[in-house]
Amino acid sequence: MGGAVREPRQLRVLEALESNVRSYSRSFPAIFSRARGSIMLTEDGRKVIDFFSGAGALNYGHNNHEIKAAITEYLASDAVVHGLDMATPAKLEFMETFNSVILRERGLQYRFQFTGPTGANAIEAALKLSRKVTGRQNIISFTQGYHGMSLGAIAASGNRFYRTGSGVSLSGATFMPYDRYLGSAVDTADYLRKALLDESSGIDLPAAILVETVQAEGGINVAGREWLQSIQAIARSVGALFVVDDIQVGCGRTGEFFSFEFAELSPDIVVLSKSLSGYGLPLSMLLIKEQFDAWRPGEHTGTFRGNNLALVSATAAINIYWRSRTFSQGVQRTGEDMRRRLEAIASEHGNGFAVRGRGMALGFDCQVAEIAEATALKAFEKGLILERCGPDDQVAKFLPALTIDSETLNQGLEIFGESLVETLKRPGSW
Ligand SMILES: *Cc1c(COP(=O)(O)O)cnc(C)c1O
Repeated sequence: MGGAVREPRQLRVLEALESNVRSYSRSFPAIFSRARGSIMLTEDGRKVIDFFSGAGALNYGHNNHEIKAAITEYLASDAVVHGLDMATPAKLEFMETFNSVILRERGLQYRFQFTGPTGANAIEAALKLSRKVTGRQNIISFTQGYHGMSLGAIAASGNRFYRTGSGVSLSGATFMPYDRYLGSAVDTADYLRKALLDESSGIDLPAAILVETVQAEGGINVAGREWLQSIQAIARSVGALFVVDDIQVGCGRTGEFFSFEFAELSPDIVVLSKSLSGYGLPLSMLLIKEQFDAWRPGEHTGTFRGNNLALVSATAAINIYWRSRTFSQGVQRTGEDMRRRLEAIASEHGNGFAVRGRGMALGFDCQVAEIAEATALKAFEKGLILERCGPDDQVAKFLPALTIDSETLNQGLEIFGESLVETLKRPGSW
């Protein structure tokens, strides 16, 4: 690990040729050539531990060899890779496997809608369908929520930088305070209930209430079980669809396959993407309760829906990790270990540092953006990829692969601890 970060000469090619919009190549200035599990290799021979996991798209690690075997075999057999949304054995097998291993095991019943490959497209589909079902326009979304970069999804996202970047007036969403947005003494669900039941609140009745159970981009803000249950009940009582965006914290991230299982919710629509394919291949879908499947054939379409290669890796991931409780229990245990380690680091320093999260989605709130920034920068110099989140990017975000071994995890946590110490020692640096 480690060694000073040198700006490879080729990064200058990026500067010359790639749009200004590039972002992660700025935060992590190296050329990454190979990766396996939780380690990425740079072209100049550094080994870097990955605590970001492709923003949660690599829950089973980079180039997971067991999953890779399934897609290698599929490619070698000349089976159909691209078939629009035609029927293929790969699609049938995925739906049957997901249905029996994930849904039926949890007493859930849904239809599958494969959307375009991005999470944002799946969000668009969920919002369109909710509007179509209810004949209403408004969407209730929450402060500091994040749902993607297309206009409908940005309209439901809180971040001002992204909203401004859209260049048009965004409409169709009303923001309500997320759980504990006003501190733990205020139940913000009460405010939402009142606003929706009051005929003169000025808030239009919604087609949907769109929520993340853990706001990952928003700073690893965790909603409580009762709050989520209240939000679901409010949706039901006003005739709105209850939509859970499980794009980043689904697929095992919080310790169970769906992030809402702990609260025993029954969303009308569940949105999945990021780690759904299990291999970092683009795949997004909606799970829709049958009574809300109001689409006319082809009404939401797209060229790359349910790419077969991604469906094959998704099926493999489910078969490998979700047929027993072992994996899930391991994620919960590892998450608790991580949390204890991070809490110990936080209490060593005071400074108002706080640790939040569920399962293996954890945030270390540095309170001050510059501390988080300098710490992440130092961590990368020492060989750790650590992303930041929250309204001011003041939270260090911990999303290691769920399959990470304890030695690599410990090494990564140590690097974080050391980087924070060094940052705090040199106040001038932040
Ligand atoms: C990443 C993300 C999205 C958007 O997915 P893209 O594939 O980037 O379009 C939406 N919601 C949440 C919670 C996300 O984390």
